[in-house]
Amino acid sequence: MSDLARTVMERCDLLATCSEDPGRITRPFASDAMRRAQNYVHEWMRRAGMQVRRDNVGNLRGRYEGAGPSTLLLGSHLDSVRDAGKYDGPLGVLVGIAAVQRLHDANRRLPFAIEVLAFADEEGLRYGSTYLGSRALAGQLEARDLALTDADGITLASAIESFGGDPARTADDRRQGANLIGYCEVHIEQGPILEARGLPVGIVSAIAGQSRFEIVFAGEAGHAGTVPMDRRRDALTAAAEMVLAVEAIATTEQGLVATVGKLEVEPGAANVIPGRAALSLDVRHADDNVRTRVAEALVARARETARRRKVSVEVRAVSSNPAVQCAPRLVKLLVQAVKDSRQQAIELTSGAGHDAVVMSSLTEVGMLFVRCKGGVSHNPAESVTAADVGVAIDVLSCFVDLIPQE
Ligand SMILES: [Zn+2]
Repeated sequence: MSDLARTVMERCDLLATCSEDPGRITRPFASDAMRRAQNYVHEWMRRAGMQVRRDNVGNLRGRYEGAGPSTLLLGSHLDSVRDAGKYDGPLGVLVGIAAVQRLHDANRRLPFAIEVLAFADEEGLRYGSTYLGSRALAGQLEARDLALTDADGITLASAIESFGGDPARTADDRRQGANLIGYCEVHIEQGPILEARGLPVGIVSAIAGQSRFEIVFAGEAGHAGTVPMDRRRDALTAAAEMVLAVEAIATTEQGLVATVGKLEVEPGAANVIPGRAALSLDVRHADDNVRTRVAEALVARARETARRRKVSVEVRAVSSNPAVQCAPRLVKLLVQAVKDSRQQAIELTSGAGHDAVVMSSLTEVGMLFVRCKGGVSHNPAESVTAADVGVAIDVLSCFVDLIPQE
């Protein structure tokens, strides 16, 4: 195992101690826990030969100068969900720093600069709004975001201020697009494919698009003892049929996932026929045409179910985010880098969103996934091996060397 891999593992352990909750990992945006984590990361960036600064929204940015004007961006996020694992986010930041450390130790300068970005918020734990860090960098943070409040009523603007940033100047955080080579993010897979294939890393070809709907069936509430079965307009049985239809339709489409994660039944009493049932629907696929087609089929199915069961249905489209294709140029370089690291190169799609989604509005993006045990994430059981981390560092180092001189 390389010393650098061991260092990254130790650093993940150390960052895990930066938490708001004793005994578990919870590191929200602009918290004391985040400040402690950033103090460590700041020092590690500095030791890797980088100039470090914190922008207004609170991202840490380390820059390793190169000979030319272009810049390659690396990174991931330092915040976490509640009761998180050690690797979702920090691993990508630390592998990026390790790749720069390797250059610094060899006293090498590349024809381009490298910036390692440690985003201040990706998960949206504190403000319920994801990607605050990368959105500021991409120039997408808006005035209405600054007015968001956390559970204690503290606005995003005042959280930024107490963390040392100037909320009036978050527009300055926008990274100018000129001379950017691209953004490459290393992240744990959060899925089971690499483990099943026995591979340490995989190259992401696309990040799935996502459609969300709220579907509300309305029937008629009534007495569970007196209304005969053939006279009922039960909203929940319609919803139940829909839940199973979602599963059945999703199973027929390669690479598609669809989920009903929320179901609210009213009035919600044992002796009352349900008059209203509201369910959430989440549909994801790497191909927007497939996602849209399946989402339309599911909505049609909801209407057909409602008609047949003589209940009404309302479908509200909550959000629709297109898939993000990783740049073929960067995918090709990552494939080559994996092969040069004597590993088998496979491509896979990401079902989860990442900072790379937002960064794709600024520059071309690529991602490298690292195998994680059981595909488990957002959970203290999150686990990666030092050997796999070593491979990820090697691949990222090769990738950086493969980038053509401009
Ligand atoms: Zn993450």
